[in-house]
Amino acid sequence: MSSFLLALHRANGVDVRLNAALTKLDDHPNDANRIRATFGDGSTLDADFAVAGIGLTPHTALAEAAGVKVEDGIVVDHFGATDDPRIFACGDVANHPSAWLKRRVRLESWANAQNQAIAAAKALLGTFEPYTDIPWFWSDQYDVNLQILGDIPADAELAVRGDLAAKRATLFHLEDGAIRGVIAINTPRELKLARKWMNQGLTIDLATLTDASTALA
Ligand SMILES: Cc1cc2nc3c(=O)[nH]c(=O)nc-3n(C[C@H](O)[C@H](O)[C@H](O)COP(=O)(O)OP(=O)(O)OC[C@H]3O[C@@H](n4cnc5c(N)ncnc54)[C@H](O)[C@@H]3O)c2cc1C
Repeated sequence: MSSFLLALHRANGVDVRLNAALTKLDDHPNDANRIRATFGDGSTLDADFAVAGIGLTPHTALAEAAGVKVEDGIVVDHFGATDDPRIFACGDVANHPSAWLKRRVRLESWANAQNQAIAAAKALLGTFEPYTDIPWFWSDQYDVNLQILGDIPADAELAVRGDLAAKRATLFHLEDGAIRGVIAINTPRELKLARKWMNQGLTIDLATLTDASTALA
């Protein structure tokens, strides 16, 4: 999948340089409006601006000041409640128990931010419906709709349906016949079906998944 996305961005004119350590970021010697980046191999790149894409840390100062438990984010339960029942948290900043992953996790995706917020808001209003969504991420990149559902265990069995080179494929990751994770490239319908099966705990025949001549139902 990494190779696929790398090729996609390069095909769309993006100059991706891997293992390129930035050693210097200076003002451009001849142009006050530009900057010059120097890499470990001595090569340089002139640019209008630089973006530091170096990850994020949750902003938990307010929660800490309020005395609620913080451990890689604000620690909440299935309803978004902290250890102070009057204080709730959700989204990127919340470390919650994931029913699907069977461990605590802090997810950084808009679907998590939206749906966990719905569960938290309901709980605040007295309707306690636990947040049990399977982790889901999606992004539109050029002509590719990319969706990732569940998790991808290292030893999972891979079943590919469709044709990745043609930018239309679903990668199912199975454990004991059950789908643990799905990566969908321009196949939103198949991802929707997979979500249903995963929520139902169905085991699916590998041959059925990979036979693209028969529609999944
Ligand atoms: C570059 C980038 C690309 C992304 N692409 C995708 C994608 O393709 N697909 C996807 O699913 N997700 C993507 N995400 C992740 C997604 O944007 C986040 O998961 C989502 O925005 C999280 O929502 P949130 O409400 O939890 O947090 P945020 O959107 O971060 O909102 C938190 C808000 O709280 C405010 N705040 C913080 N502290 C205080 C305080 N003490 N008082 C008052 N306000 C405060 C902040 O200013 C901020 O406005 C991307 C994120 C980034 C940065």
